[in-house]
Amino acid sequence: MADLPFHDKGDFVDADRGFIGKLSPAVVKTADGRVIWDNDSYDFLRGECPDTAHPSLWRQGQLCARQGLYEVAEGVYQVRGLDLSNMTLVEGERGVLVIDPLISTECAAAALKLYRDHRGPRPVTGVVYTHSHVDHFGGVCGVTQGDVPILAPAGFMEHAVAENVYAGPAMTRRAVYMYGTALSRSPEGQIGCGLGTTTSTGTVSLIPPTLDVTRTGQEETVDGIRMVFQLTPGAEAPAEMTFLFPDRRALCLAENATHNQHNILTLRGARVRDARVWARYLNEAISLFADRADVAFASHHWPTWGRDGVVRFLEQQRDMYAYLHDQTLRLLNKGLTGPEIAEVLHLPPELEQAWHARGYYGSVSHNVKAVYQRYLGWFDGNPAHLWELPPRESAIRYVECLGGGSAVVAFARRYIHENDLRFAAQLLNHAVFADEGNKEARDLLAEVYTRLGHGAENATWRNFYLTGALELSEGIVPATVDTTSPDLLTPLTVEQIFDSLAIRVNGPRAWNERLSIDWHLTDLGERHRTTLSNGALIQQREPVDETADLTLRLTKDQLVGLLSGKGVGGVEREGDTGALQRLVAVLDRPTPDFAIVTA
Ligand SMILES: [Zn+2]
Repeated sequence: MADLPFHDKGDFVDADRGFIGKLSPAVVKTADGRVIWDNDSYDFLRGECPDTAHPSLWRQGQLCARQGLYEVAEGVYQVRGLDLSNMTLVEGERGVLVIDPLISTECAAAALKLYRDHRGPRPVTGVVYTHSHVDHFGGVCGVTQGDVPILAPAGFMEHAVAENVYAGPAMTRRAVYMYGTALSRSPEGQIGCGLGTTTSTGTVSLIPPTLDVTRTGQEETVDGIRMVFQLTPGAEAPAEMTFLFPDRRALCLAENATHNQHNILTLRGARVRDARVWARYLNEAISLFADRADVAFASHHWPTWGRDGVVRFLEQQRDMYAYLHDQTLRLLNKGLTGPEIAEVLHLPPELEQAWHARGYYGSVSHNVKAVYQRYLGWFDGNPAHLWELPPRESAIRYVECLGGGSAVVAFARRYIHENDLRFAAQLLNHAVFADEGNKEARDLLAEVYTRLGHGAENATWRNFYLTGALELSEGIVPATVDTTSPDLLTPLTVEQIFDSLAIRVNGPRAWNERLSIDWHLTDLGERHRTTLSNGALIQQREPVDETADLTLRLTKDQLVGLLSGKGVGGVEREGDTGALQRLVAVLDRPTPDFAIVTA
């Protein structure tokens, strides 16, 4: 760590380059006055790095906390520091094209206003979603009503939904840990998340794209702005694309290359990404675009200027993902398991020294485990791990073998004294899982997590550790997001709505239930049948017979209303109306604030 090139201020120069003006105070509120973004709360990062933070992460926090409107190239602007992600604005013949309208409509509106305050009241003439993650589309209704072209990579809607709705409650809960949203923003608490400062907490929206980008080389023009696309599915997101503005000599890298090592598997949980194709896409981007670009920017962090700088940046990012992938496979083919590879695999010296390859968001340690998981899954082949007891049952027995809860705490103190915090955390976790009432173990584990967090270079590790410490001390942080709200159901296709219903069926409660319902969506002209049998809700498009127990004629809005508990008012029903009640009776609700650091 001491060897890191702290004297190199190039990133600070780039992060400040083209600064035009900032929002002051940098606070965004909802219509009813709730603060959903406060970038000024990170002003403490301007100070020297304290003992409670890793110097490399502190530096990244300083860079991420910059806020304002910046000129990237002639006619290309970015608003940074008004959400986790950046909003990019490209000026056209009549107005302005918006790339990635942040997470919340309120932040997106504030970002657009900041731009207009400096560049005039240009209308939004188009929107581009670079990929299917919520920080790149959620604020769209803050910049447009949807009467403009909206471009997105093929598969955008499917994946926006699959990644954020099906496993939404669990990801949302884990995201509280990953982004440290419940922590105080302070030198002892949350100092960013590596990719940016934090996530805004306003109104999330989604307008479906009107134009799909389906192939590399596709060209589109919106408001006189020419774009050449490269489709990169399965890199940072399942649906993602990079693109060049040839007339501006500016390259948008989406989130495929940012100023940190990204996640092969995000700690909030998601499908494992493919580091192999990720590296290939970056290589392809160099050959497609490098000679036609003077600047490369992304939807996080700051741009990179100059052809040589852009190529070096892309080559190093490419090599990093290729190295993580190939070396993990080399080592797993020698018999090493994920945790073993994580201890021995280090990046080559050139990449170790490259700030943008540092693990502020992803890390070598958890990324190589992700590569292992992608190819070999959760099982490492050792039969001892095939049928392990679940955590609490194991913990009870470990604590018994070690001589009880107090003995475990005494052992843990010894390891803490030897600075073996990792093993102390393992021991104390057993003590807490075996007996949540063991206050001594809880307090000591909170202390160990705090020290691990303060020593972490990775922001998401820091946030996980510190949130774990917080919940051990103060209890579970209550959930604030309702992931089953009608706003999230409305943009879904009818198939996706029934999919999300199917995963709420309480299997055992529905074992003996058999029923079928035909749903005639009168406004869409679609017919769907859902059949419940053996606890599984099966759906079928355009059933040929008329044998369902119940037929409902309704609009999609009525369907969403009905599933959100608004009742069947105005819905035309034919057949056994009890079938609907029986279906509703077996629906479960997710637990939005499940325990993580306690059993
Ligand atoms: Zn993002």
